[in-house]
Amino acid sequence: MDDCIFCKIATGAIPAKVVYRDDSVIAIADLNPQAPTHLLVLPVAHHATVVEASEDGALIGRLVSVASQLGKQHGGDGGFRLVVNTGPDGGQTVGHVHVHVLAGRHMTWPPG
Ligand code: AMP
Ligand code: ZN
Repeated sequence: MDDCIFCKIATGAIPAKVVYRDDSVIAIADLNPQAPTHLLVLPVAHHATVVEASEDGALIGRLVSVASQLGKQHGGDGGFRLVVNTGPDGGQTVGHVHVHVLAGRHMTWPPG
């Protein structure tokens, strides 16, 4: 996807702070962090939403697995939060699926 910012990050065409990378998944620091730790775990391949990505069960597994490991690493015993905003009502602003990993502070519920 030529105009997708996360595709460009995945290929290295635009810079990001990459904290994890394998063949199918990368994790980056969010540019506008909402918690002391705020990472984004995204597939290297373009999938617009989690619904599209769900057609590839192995990929969903990798996204959740990597996000959980990073959450555990940064949240420790206090825990962490994983979020997948989906579509306009879900608050998704970048159309390349990503799992937010938030840790390092107490989270409230319900979200806004
Ligand atoms: P969402 O609103 O769920 O689609 O989340 C998009 C996230 O991407 C937001 O938290 C933004 O701060 C973040 N973001 C946008 N552009 C960049 C970028 N170039 N590098 C890192 N994070 C970004
Ligand atoms: Zn993309």
